[in-house]
Parts: sequence; structure tokens; C-alpha cells
Amino acid sequence: MKIAVYPGSFDPFTYGHLDIAMRAKKIFDEVIILVASNSKKHSFFTVEERVGMIKESLAEYCGIYVDSTSSLVVDYMKEHAASYIIRGLRNSVDFEYEYTLENSNLFLDEKIETVYFTSRKENMFLSSSIVKEYKAYGIDCLSLVPEVVDKALGEKFIKK
Ligand code: ADP
Repeated sequence: MKIAVYPGSFDPFTYGHLDIAMRAKKIFDEVIILVASNSKKHSFFTVEERVGMIKESLAEYCGIYVDSTSSLVVDYMKEHAASYIIRGLRNSVDFEYEYTLENSNLFLDEKIETVYFTSRKENMFLSSSIVKEYKAYGIDCLSLVPEVVDKALGEKFIKK
């Protein structure tokens, strides 16, 4: 079994993330989208909210699972017999960050292989941050995020 973990903040999950997970599933037997909680970074949605929204967005895609961890990704991988990390690349800025991250994971476990998927060109500008910014100005994001995410973002901004 080739098990891959796709770790990230997913704050919130976008169609850019979904595209990467679906393409990874064509290559790996199992893909686990792993919401990694980072205590240093302030998050918009709680880990539970993010996991719930991803689960709802994935209902029809079998072989893609969702989980969360507050441990190191490499430790989670050892516990789940996963050997591959999936990450996405939109531009050269992503590459610089991702390459450093890959090497820091290799320092922790030299057997881990990171596999990159470049974004589809329509998703190149798409990020969790841009979606939050759009939504703050009342812009419809239904072509950028699953319905459940669009609704949750709308509700958060009404409360603020
Ligand atoms: P992190 O905080 O770990 O960067 P993100 O949720 O922002 O978490 O992103 C998780 C991964 O998904 C990263 O590798 C990022 O480059 C990738 N990613 C995010 N948005 C897109 C997109 N639109 N197309 C391709 N990859 C993306």
C-alpha cells in the first residue's frame, strides 16, 4: 500500500487543495489530508471546523481521508505507515518554501519522499488567504471553494 499524507493548514480548504488531493489519489492507494495545527500561527477556523468542512467536501471521493494532528507530520506518518508527503506548487515562492520544508523533513526522517503537484493554471492565484480576503469584501467564492466553506466563511464575517 502506498500511503501519502497531504499536510497543510487548509484554513480553509479550497478547490486548489481538492485538485491536488484528487490528482495524488490517482497515483497513491490512500491519501490522507492532514490538518496540521500550528500553535504559533493564528488560525481563522478551528481544527475541528476545518476537518469537518473537508470531510463534507470530499463525500464523493473515495480513498481520500481527513485527519488532524498536533504532532510533527513525520511522527504522524510513522504511526500511519505513510512514506510520501504531497505538496502543491503555485510559483517560485512556493518552491523556495517547499524545498526548505522538504529538507527539514528529510533531516527528521531520510526515508520520506515529498511529491509535488503543480497547480492547474486556473488555481495559480488561489489560496486560503485570498479567499478570506474576497469574502471579507462580500465577493462570491463559490467557484473557488466548496459550498460548505463558502457558507462557513460568510457566517464568520457576519459575526465579526
Ligand atoms: P501550509 O500552511 O502548510 O502552506 P496551505 O493550506 O496553505 O498550508 O497549503 C497546503 C499545501 O497546498 C501547500 O503545499 C500549498 O503550496 C498547496 N496549495 C495551496 N493552494 C494551492 C493551489 N491553489 N494550487 C496548488 N497547491 C496549492
